[in-house]
Amino acid sequence: MAHDHHDHSHDHHHGHDHPSELSEIELRVRALQSLLVEKGYVDPAALDELVETYETRIGPRNGARVVAKAWSDPAFLEWLRRDASAAIHSLGFTGRQGEHMVAVENSQDEHNLVVCTLCSCYPWPVLGLPPSWYKTPAYRSRAVIDPRGVLRDFGVELPETTRIRVWDSTAEIRYLVIPRRPDGTEGWDEERLAGLVSRDSMIGTALARRPAEMPA
Ligand code: FE
Repeated sequence: MAHDHHDHSHDHHHGHDHPSELSEIELRVRALQSLLVEKGYVDPAALDELVETYETRIGPRNGARVVAKAWSDPAFLEWLRRDASAAIHSLGFTGRQGEHMVAVENSQDEHNLVVCTLCSCYPWPVLGLPPSWYKTPAYRSRAVIDPRGVLRDFGVELPETTRIRVWDSTAEIRYLVIPRRPDGTEGWDEERLAGLVSRDSMIGTALARRPAEMPA
């Protein structure tokens, strides 16, 4: 899609160069999109809506299934801790920008927040397309300098005793936050649990939804 987050120069010493095929694909997508819009075949607003759907719904559903399984199946959680790439792959979620996954678990003592300080590295196979705020210089810098303030902006107020750890994604390693399982969900099956897991809760800028927050 026509994001311009790859226009900055990458720092090769930090392994932040994205695979060249990707740029090629992005260029092709961009060219195709311009052509389709220009010829009047597609409405840019409809395209935006499609992208939005992949950002917020279709993409993150994979990650939500990973989290729901981690909440339900101790053996899977253990596998996720040991080798997140393999555990996630076992559910069929694999592909570019997600080859080396690390799962970071929230607890009462610790909250995890994911950022890419240099560009917009993001675990595509489990979260889909990155939201636009994830790519902004403001988020990328403030997440590191003032993570608690960033969380507050997102409406998340954590106890002072909860430590916040910030994980800087790279081309090599992508992080998936495993949010805390909300109270009052005992006995829920994985599908129902997955409904509580928002995209932002897997980036760390939100908590999992409480059962009361679910639409009826
Ligand atoms: Fe990046």
